[in-house]
Amino acid sequence: MPDLSDDIFAETFSQDPWWWEAAAPVEMPSTEISQATDVVVIGSGYAGLSCAHELARNGTNVIVVDAGSIGIGASTRAAGLLSGRAGVSKQINLEAAVGADQATRILDEADEAYEYFQNLIATENIDCHFQNVGRFVGAHTPAAYDKLAKKADEYNSDSRGAFRMVSRAEQHNYIGSDYYFGGMFTEAAGLVHSSLYHRGLLNLCEAAGVRFLPNARVEVIESNTPRKRVHTSQGVIEAKDVVLATNGYTDKSAPWHQRRIIPISSTIVATEEIGEDRVSALLPQLCAVIDAKRIICFARPSPDRKRILFGGRARFHPITTEEATKILYGQLCEMFPEMQGVKVTNTWTGYMGFTFDFLPKMGEHDGMHYAIGCNGGCGIVMMSWLGRQVARKIAGTANRPSAYEAQPFKTQPFYGGKPWFLPVVGNYYRFRDWLELRSVRHLR
Ligand SMILES: Cc1cc2nc3c(=O)[nH]c(=O)nc-3n(C[C@H](O)[C@H](O)[C@H](O)COP(=O)(O)OP(=O)(O)OC[C@H]3O[C@@H](n4cnc5c(N)ncnc54)[C@H](O)[C@@H]3O)c2cc1C
Repeated sequence: MPDLSDDIFAETFSQDPWWWEAAAPVEMPSTEISQATDVVVIGSGYAGLSCAHELARNGTNVIVVDAGSIGIGASTRAAGLLSGRAGVSKQINLEAAVGADQATRILDEADEAYEYFQNLIATENIDCHFQNVGRFVGAHTPAAYDKLAKKADEYNSDSRGAFRMVSRAEQHNYIGSDYYFGGMFTEAAGLVHSSLYHRGLLNLCEAAGVRFLPNARVEVIESNTPRKRVHTSQGVIEAKDVVLATNGYTDKSAPWHQRRIIPISSTIVATEEIGEDRVSALLPQLCAVIDAKRIICFARPSPDRKRILFGGRARFHPITTEEATKILYGQLCEMFPEMQGVKVTNTWTGYMGFTFDFLPKMGEHDGMHYAIGCNGGCGIVMMSWLGRQVARKIAGTANRPSAYEAQPFKTQPFYGGKPWFLPVVGNYYRFRDWLELRSVRHLR
């Protein structure tokens, strides 16, 4: 472990996401609450804005409601890692879980979602530092390397052969560290500035005539009637359709969904500027590096390539920002010992929404549409995509059902939305990671 007795916090240390220096959540003027509308979208992240934009640009009247300012959830906090198929089934053996045909549809649609994302930012000129630089997944043990090789075969079987294995001897082309035992590189992945992408979606929504009701917490949703009623802390809105896009922030206003979403926090630290040369030495392809552990951590260059953003799950129980920073800093220095002494300028946390089968979901329940359940690092692409798919379903313009509608959306007994089991399950996974790392210590 590195020496953490030194002060690792920069003088300007902030608990706001570093992204917010370029684009923070926005206090939009509130729309007139007395007006009825065609569609109410609850949640102003990527899913809610993508849905609202698709509807509004086709002439539908839409109000986006959020409990806070616009973009206050995970969508202005994400690390900015993008991918297609590599993002949706990291944690599971997809074919065993859903069958071969369905697995193919799910993976193909994830690739389609990533293509859609790239087209959107190109055609709409969204200035969000998108870079299609690929991604390196590091194997923390030789056994993890073998598992990754199988995953690469699975991904390559019906895709474009975009996944290749990198031996330990070659890995210095991808990461300036001996931390891993080789890994997998994919070209089908990239990086984005998360909050500038969110701001781009917001601009599109405004141009299309979407109305906003920020700082209005939805308390009750009456959705089993032909005319739905959404009760917010600022009043009631009537609409023909309601869309739930609340992901890891889903609360008791949607109890059925709350019982199916596990909110899990993720934390990121941004270092002070270390200069482009040092960043390139650590991340030679200037792409993200993530690991293959059960409890992952990841590193990426900032869009200006002058600092490192490093993230992961610091703990599975509530801890202070200072504690979380020290834990992540320790992991950063294990991966890159030369980072010791570099200060941290920002540490921030947000919530992701996991599902019990680790697959994102869209669908309809009790007369309400939903797009939720990003399951970690695929939400930028997938929640944008699923938000749009819900809009197309409402508008009747979808030419086929989404593969993400087909799987049942299950809960578990004794689960009401508060993940009481996380400290136990999370620490068990962390312990297994630790055992595996310890077993190969002599090989490092
Ligand atoms: C630290 C961190 C790093 C991440 N990194 C990545 C990454 O690198 N790549 C990636 O693809 N994904 C990443 N993710 C996940 C990604 O950010 C999310 O999947 C995505 O932002 C979810 O978008 P969303 O629109 O579904 O939900 P959110 O952006 O979370 O929006 C949900 C909104 O719903 C609102 N809301 C909830 N309840 C109510 C209510 N009752 N009334 C009114 N409003 C309500 C909330 O206020 C919130 O604004 C990361 C997440 C975190 C937290």
